[in-house]
Formats: sequence, structure tokens, C-alpha cells
Amino acid sequence: MIIILKKEAAESQVNGLLALLQSKNIQPHVSRGSLQTIVGCVGDVSHLDPGILEALDGVESVQRIQEPFKAANRKFHPEDTVIDCSGVKVGGGNFSVIAGPCSVESEEQIVGIAKAVKASGATMLRGGAFKPRTSPYAFQGLGKAGIDMLITAKRETGLPIVTELMDFKDIELFNDVDVIQIGARNMQNFNLLKEVGSYTKKPVLLKRGMSATLQELLMSAEYVMASGNENVILCERGIRTFETAMRNTLDLAIVPYLRRRTHLPVVVDPSHATGHAYLVEPVSVAAAAIGADGLIIEVHNDPPHAKCDGAQSQTPEMFDSTMKKIHAWFAHCPREGIVV
Ligand code: PEP
Ligand code: MN
Repeated sequence: MIIILKKEAAESQVNGLLALLQSKNIQPHVSRGSLQTIVGCVGDVSHLDPGILEALDGVESVQRIQEPFKAANRKFHPEDTVIDCSGVKVGGGNFSVIAGPCSVESEEQIVGIAKAVKASGATMLRGGAFKPRTSPYAFQGLGKAGIDMLITAKRETGLPIVTELMDFKDIELFNDVDVIQIGARNMQNFNLLKEVGSYTKKPVLLKRGMSATLQELLMSAEYVMASGNENVILCERGIRTFETAMRNTLDLAIVPYLRRRTHLPVVVDPSHATGHAYLVEPVSVAAAAIGADGLIIEVHNDPPHAKCDGAQSQTPEMFDSTMKKIHAWFAHCPREGIVV
């Protein structure tokens, strides 16, 4: 349920409404926009009588929300949410490019890549320390040592770091991590989502599960938000379909579709979506054109020898060319208010 307030509603009327809702075990979310103030109600609203609320001074109208996602719903929060990732903004016209290797392999590797991608205009550094691999015999990541190497790369470049948390038991290693990635395979690990949401307000990059619908993705975001952390960035990284030519099928239209339904920022991962380094550049430009709030791109100094996802990793030179194309796109076709 959402309660739309009158423009002239007094602060005391708003506070009275919030107190009334709280007394009925409803969690009110106030969204003060430039045109309208909206109060979203989370909780069991079945016993709330819209007629009684509408009769209150200061209330313009009351609407029920049909969708099961509430906190993530744009009706709750009409303006874009801007997520602050240790100073780097994502959403609301801020286009951010996260780049780095699939997995951290050595300090020299991650620091070298961090410097290269920063020079090309990346705003954050990615790198996996805990890797979800299909085979138990494949490289599983360097764990704590990998996180320490990412922290060194952050110190040397100033780039905030994004890395995947697979198991909540490792959360204390993430104290100096700026954005916690929840991978596609864990998108519906509801305990992990609840634990992360209640433990920290650090931004969470939530990747779409391999066969997740849009509603399932938003319900997973809702788990993190309902647990106390509203800083969720959604990531489209391709889904599994009957097509096998590419690693996944990129559902690019989900970007504008999501923008209409949620206020959360949406970034696109062209690397996992396609599985081929040569496709990353054109798909990145397409993602920028369709309205994404950013990209997460795999970049490796020596893709043929990468321990993970070499075929889809750009070289630093390819990444530099991609950044130039993205800048050229926005220069040619500016999006309102966009900052790259
Ligand atoms: C990754 O980002 O390296 C990764 C494993 O991604 P996904 O969870 O989308 O497969
Ligand atoms: Mn990868």
C-alpha cells in the first residue's frame, strides 16, 4: 500500500500518520520527491482500511500495490535511487563501469589490471576471491589472500572494490570491501540475502540467477531490503535459454523494463552474458544505449592464461577501446543528466 500526501501536508500531520502506521506494526518508508511525498507501507496491510487513511488530514490518496515486491517498487519511491559505493555513485544518471579480472590471481596481476582499467576510466575494480565454479577441481579463488590483494589494489589506485561473498561465514573478511557481490548461483540463497541485509548497509550487487524471472530477481532484492539494507544494485548477466552459441542469452530489454518497475539501479555484465571477449564492446555500447546505469566487465592482462573466464575477458587495450566507444556514444546521444 502507498499513501500519497498532499503537497501542503504539515510535518505534524506526516508524523501523526507515521506513528499511526507504526502502532499497527507497519513499517513506513517515506520518499520525499520534488513533486510528491509518498509513504510506502511494508508489513501486513490487510487490516488497514484505506478509507480511514484517506480521511486523515494531509493525505491525498491511498493505493494498494499489487506486486509482491514493495521496497524495490518504483511506486514506493518514484525517483531513481542513487547508491553511493564509497564515493562512486551508481544510478540516477551516474553511469559507472566496474572492471577487473574474473578472479584475483596475484598481487601483481590485480594491481596491474587496476591501474590499467583506472587509466581507461573504470570507476570500480572487480575481482573474485571466492569463486563459484561448476567443477570442484577448478580454481576456487585465493580466499582471504585474494581479498587482501584487492585491498592493496584499492590502496594503490583509489578504486572501490567489488567482490563476491559466497558464504556468510566469510563476512568479516569483507570489512574493507566496498560492494558485496551476490552471484547468479546465490541469487535465491535466501538465508545469505537475509544475513547480508541485516548485517550491513554496504551496497550489494545482486546478479540475476541463470533462470530467474524479473519478479524473482526483484523478490531477491526485496529480501535484502526488507532485512534492513536498501542499497541494492541489480545486475543483468544473461540467462540460460535453448540457444547455446553464446554462454548465456542477454536479456537487454529487462533494463528499461526494470527501470519502470523499480527505482534500483541496473547494471549489465556483457562478459558473462556472452562468454566471448569480442562481443563485450558492442554489447556494452548497447547496454549504455538502452539505459543501463553501468557495466561490470571482465578484464585480464593475459586472457589465454587466465585461471577463470579467459575467453570472455578483454585485454586492457580492448577495455580502453570499449570505454572510448561508450564515451563517444554518450557524446553523440546524451542521456538526460548522465554522468560517465
Ligand atoms: C562473476 O562475476 O565472476 C560471476 C561468477 O558471475 P555470475 O554470478 O553472474 O556467474
Ligand atoms: Mn567470471
